[in-house]
Amino acid sequence: LVKESYQRIHEVDQEVHAFLTLDEENALEKARELDQLEDKTGILFGMPGGIKDNIVTKGLRTTCASQFLDNFNDPLYDATVVQKLQKENMVAVGKLNMDEFAMGSSNENSGYEPTRNPWNIEHVPGGSSGGSAAAVAAGEVLFTLGSDTGGSIRQPAAFCGVVGMKPTYGRVSRFGLVAFASSLDQIGPVTRTVEDNARVLEVIAGHDQMDTTSANVEVPSYTEALKQDVKGLKIAVPKEYLAEGVSKEVKDAIIEALNVYESMGATWEEVSLPHSKYALATYYLLSSSEASANLARFDGVRYGVRSENADNMIDMFKKSRSEGFGEEVKRRIMLGTFALSSGYYDAYYKKAQKVRTLIKNDFDKILEEYDVIVGPTTPTPAFKVGEKTSDPLTMYANDILTIPVNLAGVPGISIPCGFSSEGLPIGLQIIGNYFDESTVYRTAYAYE
Ligand code: GLN
Repeated sequence: LVKESYQRIHEVDQEVHAFLTLDEENALEKARELDQLEDKTGILFGMPGGIKDNIVTKGLRTTCASQFLDNFNDPLYDATVVQKLQKENMVAVGKLNMDEFAMGSSNENSGYEPTRNPWNIEHVPGGSSGGSAAAVAAGEVLFTLGSDTGGSIRQPAAFCGVVGMKPTYGRVSRFGLVAFASSLDQIGPVTRTVEDNARVLEVIAGHDQMDTTSANVEVPSYTEALKQDVKGLKIAVPKEYLAEGVSKEVKDAIIEALNVYESMGATWEEVSLPHSKYALATYYLLSSSEASANLARFDGVRYGVRSENADNMIDMFKKSRSEGFGEEVKRRIMLGTFALSSGYYDAYYKKAQKVRTLIKNDFDKILEEYDVIVGPTTPTPAFKVGEKTSDPLTMYANDILTIPVNLAGVPGISIPCGFSSEGLPIGLQIIGNYFDESTVYRTAYAYE
């Protein structure tokens, strides 16, 4: 399997650019060692997988797709999720492309050659975990890990026609995930099928002492949950999720999926998430504020490529950061620093925190009455490379249906649900209650 994975990578990745770093020699060696084991156990025994490049891997280059970290060749430890995968005998074949520091929706913010959509390479794969979704869609690996701060697992999964799960905030340890917005970031699996996805989450979920926001909540068997049907399941469909801005093709695909659920004995009703219209503004204020603080450590001393043109210490920090970070990362740092400045803090950051609570309350209210919330993952299928790069606000609008889920902290999955007339995949989003990934998986599996 591992050999075949590399074969496929060598065949297609020149065009897809899903991988930033490959670890071929070590991975093949590990596979050989596994072959020799008498006791061939482990949920992921010998399975080739890929890791998003913002998750640290011991001794394996971790760049966050930033030129600033181009020389971070030798991280000292493995992220908790990587340790957990290894315990189940997976084989990591390499590190996956992304938008720089996970800021973006198309992979066009990668500091390297951006990933392309395997269904049509003139289109973007989505982002920021574009490499994670494209690698699975192109058949390069069986599963990957991504991270989702505002849609970065679900949106690329939708664009590439694969399954991507953002678990409940706190479900999976963030230890070893390079922080973007710590109150929103969550690691999750990208796979071809719902069952594979449930298996990988079973491996990586659970409490971790190394992450104070990781929750001490028991992890049920997600694969067991797949066995139940959806008879009597109560589905809520927010009217804001099928409103203006969502393309007709996407709407039609979602309505068709809802009819399938109805035919299986589920019921659905229209509901409202009245504060979701503020989600985008809230998200960009909060995530940029947190990012501006989290990215302070990249100074060319502790981390990062140091500028060679500096005369003194302050100059060195300034030049290293301005030469090392890409445009979008600088934009977010400036926005966040501004929002946190004294005199502006109450008007922006504090206000955004309050609106975040209102958005969360909307979800809580609906999830008291319904089992899941269903809608599209994205307003349109994958757009063309270059189509939105000149206008950051249009790019941000792409995440309008995924971002509220991160602000609330609930779990959400994207699964394939048909194709556009251009032959591009459409994604169905299923959102569940806190720590109830089981119901989300069960709902997804029934449709698949
Ligand atoms: N596209 C969103 C952003 O640019 C979400 C990114 C993410 O989830 N990491 O911030």
